[in-house]
Amino acid sequence: MPTVLGIVVAAGSSRRAGRDKLDIVLADGRTVLETSVALIEECSLVTDIVVVTRADKIEYVSSLMERHPKVCAVTAGGNTRFDSVRKGIDAGPAHDFICIHDAARPFASAALVRGVIEKAFEHGAAAPCIPVKDTIKFTEDGFITGTPDRSSLRAVQTPQVFMRDMYLDALAFSDDAFDDCQVIERAGHRIYPAPGEEGNYKITTREDIEGLMSSKSIRIGHGYDVHRLVENRKLILCGVEVPFEKGLLGHSDADVAVHALMDAILGAAGLPDIGNLFPDSDPAYLGADSMELLKKVSALLAEQGWCLGNADITIVCQRPKLSPFIPAMKERLESVLGKGTCNIKATTEEKLGFTGSGEGIAAHAVALING
Ligand code: MG
Repeated sequence: MPTVLGIVVAAGSSRRAGRDKLDIVLADGRTVLETSVALIEECSLVTDIVVVTRADKIEYVSSLMERHPKVCAVTAGGNTRFDSVRKGIDAGPAHDFICIHDAARPFASAALVRGVIEKAFEHGAAAPCIPVKDTIKFTEDGFITGTPDRSSLRAVQTPQVFMRDMYLDALAFSDDAFDDCQVIERAGHRIYPAPGEEGNYKITTREDIEGLMSSKSIRIGHGYDVHRLVENRKLILCGVEVPFEKGLLGHSDADVAVHALMDAILGAAGLPDIGNLFPDSDPAYLGADSMELLKKVSALLAEQGWCLGNADITIVCQRPKLSPFIPAMKERLESVLGKGTCNIKATTEEKLGFTGSGEGIAAHAVALING
């Protein structure tokens, strides 16, 4: 059985779509990039995989790929697609075939991937193709000038699979080429058009991304935090200073309720927790205003295409009595997260445990997000 090197190309600038589309989290909790890698990895005919990414994302992508044992290298792309694929080939073992897949096509089926590779084994080169639904026109100088015969047209997708040596030789013809098939065509080889799928589209436009977002539905997250009560500190809860003889100890302003809330929101979105995002080993967060951190979390949520449905926070505190401050707390949180999003309650633990003895204050939060 021939061996196959998978090359997942994620090096192109995706700014065209207004955000880094490969980092969008899909309904199953994985990013577009990771889903595309998993798709290629799932195929038993693929031996190893190289992920080609932007130089500034190598560290982040490498950490994601720890979960994917077939990924043998993560490498930086070049100036053109062909440079990038070439770098991918160089970074992996010299298998008989290469299987080049756009990271922005996460929705191909396992059957499509297997089908293309099998056809390439048979013919030396294969690519998934679908008939063109729209009538295609030529234009020149702003006007329609002609109509090609639709029955002979195909839209080509990825993964495209070629004999490794055939592809490397064909790279000599890559000047101004649009896709990998084109260099193989120019080199005089035949490519088998394997069955493609309508669903195997390339995430390209803002509309594509909005379409992804609308299929995400709702998610829920929980956050929990505790801080110790000490003398000579302000007591800040939900961004409001509560007059009391003690305050909460912490690297930041120790706003325990906002910390729980941020972790609930981040948890719902499947993002790292505040300990990872704002580490207390980082002097930048010494004495930080947790409301500023909440703004960052809120921006991150929006960046991922989510919005907060509602959050419910419970502050567990023996003293002082918090009920007079709750309307101000709600207003503070909603000034960042949106009106009607936040509910805040306070309770005691009947003098039991560390909150009951006044050693500390705890907070729980749940958050529902939708996108
Ligand atoms: Mg905390």
